[in-house]
Order: sequence, then C-alpha cells, then structure tokens
Amino acid sequence: GAIIGILGGGQLGRMLSVAASRMGYRTHIFEPGGTPPAGDVAHAVTTAAYDDLDALRGFAEAVDVITFEFENIPTAALDLLDTLRPIRPNRRALAVSQDRLVEKAFLSDLGLGTAPYAAVDDAVDLAEAVAEIGLPAILKTRRFGYDGKGQARIMTEAEAAPALEAMAGAPSILEGFVDFTHEVSVIAARGADGRLACFDPGENVHRDGILRTTTVPATLTDAQRAEAVDIAARILDKLDYCGVMGVELFVTPEGLLVNEIAPRVHNSGHWTQNGCTVDQFEQHIRAVAGWPLGDGSRYADVQMENLIGSDIEKVADYATDACAALHLYGKTEVRAGRKLGHVNRVTRR
Ligand code: ATP
Ligand code: MG
Ligand code: MG
Repeated sequence: GAIIGILGGGQLGRMLSVAASRMGYRTHIFEPGGTPPAGDVAHAVTTAAYDDLDALRGFAEAVDVITFEFENIPTAALDLLDTLRPIRPNRRALAVSQDRLVEKAFLSDLGLGTAPYAAVDDAVDLAEAVAEIGLPAILKTRRFGYDGKGQARIMTEAEAAPALEAMAGAPSILEGFVDFTHEVSVIAARGADGRLACFDPGENVHRDGILRTTTVPATLTDAQRAEAVDIAARILDKLDYCGVMGVELFVTPEGLLVNEIAPRVHNSGHWTQNGCTVDQFEQHIRAVAGWPLGDGSRYADVQMENLIGSDIEKVADYATDACAALHLYGKTEVRAGRKLGHVNRVTRR
C-alpha cells in the first residue's frame, strides 16, 4: 500500500494517521518534537528539525505523497520536498495562510469581507493604523500565531505602545475589533478532481483564545449557511486546493466576515468524527490520495468540547456518559492550555 507522509505529529497528524490506516494506507510522520502523539499510530516517524535537509530527503523518498497538519513549515524545507514528492494541499495555500497580511489581501481580492486591517512594522505604522482603523483593535504577529498567541488587544491609545512591544519587533498586522454576535467555521474539502464537499458549519466558542466548543447545527439562517459554504467554496477553488481546509468566520449583523483560513484539518471539524459517515480526516486522506470525496452530510447534532489542561481530570465523568464519544491524544504531559483530547456529545436527529 502507498505511504502518506505527514509533516507534523500532533493530534491532527494522529487522527489523520488513524483515518489513513483505516483506508489501508500507512503514514510516515516528520516531526521535530520528542514524542509526537501521532507516533503511537503511525507506521514510521522521522524525528528531525526542518533544517535537517538529509532527514527531509529521506522522509520524502520513503513516502508517495506529502501532506501536513500545521502550516508553519519553513520555505526551504518545502522547496526541497517539492522537488521530490507531490505536496497536497499545494504550497500556495500554505503561503497564503502563513502570513496574516497576505491572507487578508487574498481574501479581499476575492471580494470577501474581513476585519479592516493594516500592516504594522513600527510605532509610526501603528499610529497611522490606529488613526485609520480606530479602537478597539487587535495587533497580531503576521506569522506563527495560534491559539490566540502573538496577539494583543488595544482598547485605548495608552495600550498601543505596550502592544507593539509585545510583538517584539515581529512584522504585525492591526485588525479592527469585529463586534460579532458569534463565530462559525466551515470545514471544506476539495478533491483532486476539483469537486467540493463542505461540512455543515459549526458554531465555535473560544476561551482565552483557545477553541472551547464547536456545536452543530450553528445558529445561522438558511441564507447565512449557504453564504458561509459559498465563501469557503470560492477560497478553495481560487487556490486550486486539494484536501480539507478550515475557514473561520465572524457572524455580524452586517454579514459574514472571514477571520482566517487553516489549510488543514481543523479543531472545529472534530465533531464530524461522530456526526457524519465520512469525517474530516477521512475526507482529507481521500483528497490527498486521489480518491473521490465521501459523503460528509450530517446525520446527528453534535457538541464537541476540547479537553484542555486539567479538563483531562474529568475523563472519568465523560466515560459514564453513553452519548459522549471520547477522543484522547495519548499526551502524557499535562500543561495549562494544552489540548489533550476532545469529547463529542451526540444527539440523534
Ligand atoms: P487559531 O488557534 O484559531 O489558529 P489564532 O491564534 O490564529 O487562533 P485568531 O483566529 O486570529 O487567532 O483569533 C483567535 C480568536 O480571537 C478568534 O477566534 C476571535 O474569537 C478573536 N479575534 C481574533 N481577531 C479578532 C477581531 N479582529 N475582532 C474580534 N475578535 C477577534
Ligand atoms: Mg490561526
Ligand atoms: Mg483562529
């Protein structure tokens, strides 16, 4: 059977490996970190840094196709991998999502609404951006942010300087604060044949910048639901995308705005594991392996709750709930803010 190479060995890589294994594939993980959660279930693991080009070459030569579970893969690594094996989704999707400024420009060019934004490299830029966009606003590093890290809220003029300092000189972007009623995301898949399949949008609640719960169905009118899916479709088509993508949206009285895109399986898509015949992980492997996409229509109402840090102590309680499907990542080290598992509570429709 073919071997699917996955860059990144976190829980997303682990769940991709499980899906691939179920479909008769083996996976080979490339991961710089010590004991990756995906290592338990993958066929092989290469533990090496992204600047270890020999290790990267060996990894690529051992697999048939390369995909990834996180977007911050260094360009030099991609340059090498690209010459050896197909990378799915393609590098353009990575380039767009790796830089919040490039991402916002891409979305705006597509005619999609976003928060007002401006590039900020120094105090002069920031003063101009605040004058243009107004307060409150959020300063974010252009690259490497996740789970709300690398962000500082600016509520008053006095908070501008400390916010800039917190960016530690990293190129940044100021975003106007969106007064959204709630947040939703579309987990969208596009096959190698260009066919699209979107999962039903989920409603997301964050706490301390980290996704807490995703609930389907989301609070949306039929028109909003259709618009959300259409936005995702336009993004994937424009990128000639192959695989699963998470598209995060703000719902406002004035319409839907795109917050950000993630060119990979997405935490807010975990509910699909227990709400659909074909979940986001299988859908991604199908796309990457060149299969037709499966049926991702939703047959149940689901609430996904992340188990973060000390939440893991509640596992025994979840275990007694017959309608709660537990998904644990096998991480032994418990840290505040670390995602250790999730639980899908299913209600039949
Ligand atoms: P992720 O883990 O989803 O990749 P991230 O670190 O990339 O997170 P964002 O998605 O940009 O961060 O922001 C995290 C959360 O902060 C959003 O889901 C939203 O709740 C809030 N947020 C971000 N940008 C804005 C904005 N412009 N206006 C209002 N709230 C915002
Ligand atoms: Mg993000
Ligand atoms: Mg986000």
